[in-house]
Amino acid sequence: MAEGPLAVGVDIGGTKVAAGLVDGTGAVLRRTRRDTPHRSTSPRVVEDTIVSAVEELLGAGSEEVVAVGIGAAGFVAADRATVVFAPHLSWRNEPLRAALGERLAMPIFVDNDANASVWAEHRFGAGRGESHLVMVNLGTGIGGGIVLDGRVVRGRFGIAGEFGHMQVVPDGIRCECGNRGCWEQYASGNALVREARALMSAGSPVVSDLFERVGGDPSELTGPLVTEAARDGDALARELLGEIGRWLGVGMADLAAALDPGTFVIGGGVSAAGELLLGPAREAFRRQLTGRGYRPEATIVAAQLGNEAGLVGAADLARVGAADLAWADAADHASGPAAGDAPPAG
Ligand SMILES: [Zn+2]
Repeated sequence: MAEGPLAVGVDIGGTKVAAGLVDGTGAVLRRTRRDTPHRSTSPRVVEDTIVSAVEELLGAGSEEVVAVGIGAAGFVAADRATVVFAPHLSWRNEPLRAALGERLAMPIFVDNDANASVWAEHRFGAGRGESHLVMVNLGTGIGGGIVLDGRVVRGRFGIAGEFGHMQVVPDGIRCECGNRGCWEQYASGNALVREARALMSAGSPVVSDLFERVGGDPSELTGPLVTEAARDGDALARELLGEIGRWLGVGMADLAAALDPGTFVIGGGVSAAGELLLGPAREAFRRQLTGRGYRPEATIVAAQLGNEAGLVGAADLARVGAADLAWADAADHASGPAAGDAPPAG
């Protein structure tokens, strides 16, 4: 039995567009997927893809759906209407809410995918009941999201939570962003694979297990393969994950100094390593924490909602946004111009 008003969530990733019909408990009632259009195609093609996925979900039932939420990788303006920049798509200052609003007759809210994910974990996942939550997603890079006092923190320009490019090592490894020593060069899936390949290419005798898994070809190595080897007990893979975990802990100590969350939720592909990653992360976090011994420590846990966090969170943020709109409308009608013009009481 579905609970509460329903909303559609759409998660636009680098390869897939995943959409789902989500109820008020975060349960996904129906799902559909499309391939993400290539970045050379026009914004209109991306809109078509979103509209067709949403219409498929709406067409299959008679439930009342109150809003559509979009979670997109990239910079989304704080007005939740405009995608400023999306690395996988042709969107540049794309007025997505307006474009979709003409074709889907309901309120539309656009968010960054990491904001959608942290909201989903806050409402229904590993951060349930936690008012101050920071999520760190370890994928190819590092993404993040912030919930403080039970609200998503988007920043003045919508770009809060881009933790991956905080500098942790002066003059460190060169990053795609053009700077050096960014956190994601030390604590991401890409960092894990880079270090494992470097060891293999150096002909280190200790990498035999990883060598077998990729038939002797370092270029075949992936993050999930290293994680799998670590879970099977391979000492080197465990050491590599431990190193990623230690860098994760160092960066989180900085985030704790700035944001003081009660819980860190760790998501993304690398988080599948579980305690092999989180154990070393907790140790490094404790060692690095400002005022350690004199302050309560944030807990560090793995995300629970996996790949669906983006679409569940986008749907729920849209549902909450639509309720706020309805509330504001009702307040407008209730007051009216005469009441609005009345001198303030007291
Ligand atoms: Zn960078």
